[in-house]
Amino acid sequence: MHLHVFLYPFALRLNETSSNIESYIYGRPSKYKETYFYIWPYPWHRRRIAMKTYHCTCGQITFFENVVCVACTRELGFLPDVLLLSSLEPAENDLFRATEATLANQLYRKCQNYAKESVCNWMIPAGTAPGAIIEPFCASCRLNQTIPDLSRQQNHELWAKMERAKRRLLYSLLSLNLPIANKLDDPQQGLAFAFLEDIEKPGGVVSKVMTGYENGLITLNIIEADDLAREKIRLAMGEPQRTLLGHFRHEIGHYYWDRLIRRTDFLDTFRLLFGNDELDYMPALQSYYASGAPANWRENFISAYSTAHPWEDWAESWAHFIHIQDTLEVASSFGLVGQAIRLDPGSAAFKSDSSGREKTFEEIIQAWADLTIALNSINRCMGLPDAYPFVLSSTIVKKFAFIFEVISAGHSERRANQ
Ligand SMILES: [Zn+2]
Ligand SMILES: [Zn+2]
Ligand SMILES: [Zn+2]
Repeated sequence: MHLHVFLYPFALRLNETSSNIESYIYGRPSKYKETYFYIWPYPWHRRRIAMKTYHCTCGQITFFENVVCVACTRELGFLPDVLLLSSLEPAENDLFRATEATLANQLYRKCQNYAKESVCNWMIPAGTAPGAIIEPFCASCRLNQTIPDLSRQQNHELWAKMERAKRRLLYSLLSLNLPIANKLDDPQQGLAFAFLEDIEKPGGVVSKVMTGYENGLITLNIIEADDLAREKIRLAMGEPQRTLLGHFRHEIGHYYWDRLIRRTDFLDTFRLLFGNDELDYMPALQSYYASGAPANWRENFISAYSTAHPWEDWAESWAHFIHIQDTLEVASSFGLVGQAIRLDPGSAAFKSDSSGREKTFEEIIQAWADLTIALNSINRCMGLPDAYPFVLSSTIVKKFAFIFEVISAGHSERRANQ
């Protein structure tokens, strides 16, 4: 029973939806205009790095995606300002009190996509300033530029899967204290998401949506949320793994290349490790699709697609770095890593739980190798595909270490500016 709720946290909620709104563009003024950390306008010291398993006030273990405690039926909500999933007590004016003792009964409201659409479980700190603009969407949903046309059957469920993966992504970005501006506030450097679908036009011509990134806008074809369709694409492309979360982590890699590498001191080292980014992008991609990756690609690249262009290599490597960081964090919280390693919020370094000593990247990768060997073996016991079907060469690890360096350096700089 508990396992069922864990695996399908939105199953009950999805049936309750009654809304039938068309695809629309979110466009509202923001009270955080001009703020660099648009979705993070809170003092650093209030943040805590939490694991993605939490506890209800009744003691029941709860998980990042949950909306209700299976033991006491209290509602749950994720509090992005403190990176915690908390149980909630209803308060006046549609507000909720977080039961977490350290929050001193702070009030929150549900994201509109939680309250009305059941595709979100994030909360918004209730502003107390008189005349403050009431923000209807949470830190994650606020980044949506376009959502699917909900008048079409199945789109609601596909959208829910998209949002669930996006919140996992956002959790990592917030944990790593990466800059996330909203495109509405910062058209130059901001970020936005568009969830679109292929449209069949009169005459049977299909207008295809390409998943991709351009100038801060991440577009995802919602067919990728359909398990059968995505698996077909995976087989056709010969990929060992294809997930929604992987798409989000890959595309955001392009965004951070723009923000953290382009026009920065890191560009020279980037070119040494990944190649020349000035290589003409479209012809490079066409050539990859025409002739595939070189036979020995595994020596230097994490995936065949990485060989298409240095930008794609970076995005693929970035996605893997986030996979590693996130998985190690959760594995540590369950005691599955020899010596618990957690991301230190003060330095964005991985530290040993027991001694507080900063881990070298080699130690992190060793812990990762040990863990994935175990994970893959466990999956095979149950007839499942390998959890991490990738091989890390020393060249690939150097690329990951560089990404770690870029994130850590930016972290200290941004923290100093807070
Ligand atoms: Zn409970
Ligand atoms: Zn939301
Ligand atoms: Zn890409």
